[in-house]
Amino acid sequence: MPQNLMLINGNWCPASSGRTFPVYNPRDETIISHVPAADTPDVETAVRAADAAFSEWSSMNPFRRGSLLRQASERILTKKEEIGRLMALEQGKSLQEATGEVVKGADILRYYAEEGERIYGRIIANDDNATVSKVIYQPLGVAAAISPWNYPVELLAWKVGAALAAGCTIVCKLPSETPLSPLAFLECLQETGLPPGTVNGITGSGSVVGPVLVRHPLVKKVAFTGSTEVGKTVLGYCTENLTKASMELGGSLPMLVFDDCRLDAAVKGAVRRSFRNMGQICIAVNRIYVQRGIYDQFVSRMSEQTQKLVIGEGILSPADLGPMCTAKGRNTVQTHIDDALSKGAVLKCGGKIPGGFSRGHWYEPTVLANVSHDMLIMQEETFGPAAGIMPFDTLAEAVGLANDTLYGLAAMVYTQNLTTAETCARQIDAGNIAINNPDPGVINAPYGGVKASGFGKEHGPEGLYEYLHAKHVRVRVLDEQT
Ligand code: NAD
Repeated sequence: MPQNLMLINGNWCPASSGRTFPVYNPRDETIISHVPAADTPDVETAVRAADAAFSEWSSMNPFRRGSLLRQASERILTKKEEIGRLMALEQGKSLQEATGEVVKGADILRYYAEEGERIYGRIIANDDNATVSKVIYQPLGVAAAISPWNYPVELLAWKVGAALAAGCTIVCKLPSETPLSPLAFLECLQETGLPPGTVNGITGSGSVVGPVLVRHPLVKKVAFTGSTEVGKTVLGYCTENLTKASMELGGSLPMLVFDDCRLDAAVKGAVRRSFRNMGQICIAVNRIYVQRGIYDQFVSRMSEQTQKLVIGEGILSPADLGPMCTAKGRNTVQTHIDDALSKGAVLKCGGKIPGGFSRGHWYEPTVLANVSHDMLIMQEETFGPAAGIMPFDTLAEAVGLANDTLYGLAAMVYTQNLTTAETCARQIDAGNIAINNPDPGVINAPYGGVKASGFGKEHGPEGLYEYLHAKHVRVRVLDEQT
């Protein structure tokens, strides 16, 4: 990938201003690279390029589009180590995790290559036999994708795969903290021979590039993943041209653990979902509600397992956890922990910067017991490696606590009782519920939140149809008598 450049209209180019900004390694805050600081003229060029490419791309046979996406997927797999290394360097996750994410990105393109070949319409009978209604699905036009740094390739792939398979062209505003791996991902798409302008990747500040991109009248669809706060601002921009939007926003996921659960599975799920990627995942769990009969056992088992997680550099040597991506994120974690401790929580493990890591954004995975529902960790999105565990007595109480939040992205439930599981699945206000497992998202089933976690879906056919509009065509066959 060319150094210090971004992808516009099939070319690797600097910002029109010539300005750049640095990309840091969160392990020690050293500068890894610089990328262009795009501004209004660059966004304008990218959107116009995507608009110019739309005619060719949208009229291309879906099987040909599918074939190009499959080729891109293959190409990404051949470069998984290279792209994974960039991601590990800029994001802080281990090389193994990063490479796994790149493989997922390739899988997503392959999935949407195939789903795009299955965009079917409908034939609807009318009240006279001479007339028939047809519903056809057509691509919306230029899509704008804005995504965050926690899963720099995967979250982008959801948008790029679905948009391209639907026949839309796309301009991606890449995350400022982690632009290198998404640029390398987009390069693989470009190298398979997509028409210039079909995929564009621009780097720059969200508050500079974002408004220009989202407000552009040629942009017909906005796919945003990020915080609820910024999502509301972006949605405000969308109202100016009534641009269709999907919003994948923040979450504050509850995990409910019932007395009758398989405790080993629940503890394993809790540790994975609280600390994977240093808790910087939209479906991370920060608030765990455990039924009183197994509360003490759960707390001690979870603390024990958490302390076994290996913190380390993760590229040259394997590690379960690396640094957090940003200093701001680590400050939020510390604030939530301090708030909990000041209100009477008990620190079971973690709660500090690990020894030997004086530079970078390191933090120990933290388990807090005796938390109460009014603490920040139970109310807000921590987006970092800290989990509070609180006891409950009844199913109704647990569901009430789970729902007592602004958010509604996902929830996890551990129980072996079918009625308990079904009640939680039906009564918890969230877009995704995982029962006896910690992974509520798979690529071929719809994913997305309710309430302040946003609206619209990614994954599955639903994710594809976000980039299409349904057109009703009513046809009358005129015979000689008509
Ligand atoms: P963020 O909202 O700060 O930024 C998200 C993206 O928006 C970035 O690319 C940023 O540059 C851009 N941006 C910033 N200001 C903008 C503006 N005014 N106009 C347009 N774009 C702008 O979020 P973050 O800190 O990068 O990511 C963490 C958040 O993302 C968390 O809240 C997390 O829950 C959420 N998230 C949600 C999902 C989901 O699927 N629901 C997935 C991953 C992350």
